Amino acid sequence: MTATAAVTAPEVTAPTPCLIIDVATAVAQYRRIAGAFAGAHVHYAVKANPEPALLRELAGAGCLFDVASRPEIDLCRAAGADPARLSYGSTIKKAEDIAYAYARGVRMFAFDSAEELDKIATYAPGSEVLCRLLASSMGARWPLSRKFGCVPEMAADLMRRAAGLGLDPAGVSFHVGSQQLDPRRWEPSIATAAALFDELRADGIRPRILNAGGGFPVDYRTAVAPIEAYASSIETAVSRHFGEDRPELMIEPGRYVAAPAGVLHTEVVLVSRKSYGDEQRWVFLDVGRFGGLAETEDEAIQYRLVTARDGGPAGPVILAGPTCDSVDILYQHTAYELPLDLRAGDVVRIVGTGAYTATYSSVGFNGLPPLAVIAQSS
Ligand SMILES: *Cc1c(COP(=O)(O)O)cnc(C)c1O
Repeated sequence: MTATAAVTAPEVTAPTPCLIIDVATAVAQYRRIAGAFAGAHVHYAVKANPEPALLRELAGAGCLFDVASRPEIDLCRAAGADPARLSYGSTIKKAEDIAYAYARGVRMFAFDSAEELDKIATYAPGSEVLCRLLASSMGARWPLSRKFGCVPEMAADLMRRAAGLGLDPAGVSFHVGSQQLDPRRWEPSIATAAALFDELRADGIRPRILNAGGGFPVDYRTAVAPIEAYASSIETAVSRHFGEDRPELMIEPGRYVAAPAGVLHTEVVLVSRKSYGDEQRWVFLDVGRFGGLAETEDEAIQYRLVTARDGGPAGPVILAGPTCDSVDILYQHTAYELPLDLRAGDVVRIVGTGAYTATYSSVGFNGLPPLAVIAQSS
């Protein structure tokens, strides 16, 4: 489907490595997830890929945004997004960042501690606040556990405190880990949120927003369940735990929107062996862990590779990046095969690289420039 569109997009003759973003594919992904979660507020997590052309088209299609910094706020405003409908989803903000956001019209902020709540009350008075709940990342290929969120009993206290500080305790948020492969992993947090809403109602506090975060997965080398399966699993859980008192649902997809829109064009620098009898070849590309492929750490995200020589006989390879750091190996434990006649100078296209790549690329490690990005509209 959409990922294929990006692969078959017209050949770009830019120097490699270069990330080609097909903006239309991202918009199609947004439309599909917004359709699956009909009625939900869909905030694209800008950190997945903040390319201005992408943000502009998403804003034009009606997408809302989740931001985590001043530059992301500025990018969204430049893309035409209404600041009043941005959510500032990071729970770790400097006081100046909160004041900056508030001055530009941002009115929704996440928090997971009393200290952060007090900052928001001072620098963004009266704003809507969402309390981030700790959630398990079990089942996710790229876990986000532990760093964000608090336990439910603390969340209840903090929501009361928010009301006392004159803030609007609008709801809760959680994130089940990125590239979450199990649609059932949202339910435990939904159950926690429902119990929390109930408890707060007894104190006259009526939270209304359930922010189910991101985590929605995409096809890399293996197909995942369709997004509709995630939507229906979440919908069922919301009905089961909230019943008649349905909250407003909000989601923050990052990877789902951006990943299928990107193809990373790279060049083979060297194909070699470590001994004459080695069956496994080493294939060194001109992009690696420091050039944007950070999510290959622990071989967590396994991208699909396409070469012009595909179809002929292939054999096992270890794939590595070009830098002089020995952790700059992409895949050595995961079975990857590439054509036997692959050689230096060949282009290898890394598919599904639209999310968490360009922004992860280092500034100048080993003298290599950050990853170039070209956004096109097909
Ligand atoms: C990164 C992030 C997201 C997006 O996560 P994906 O797994 O890419 O969908 C959503 N919400 C918050 C708060 C995030 O930090």
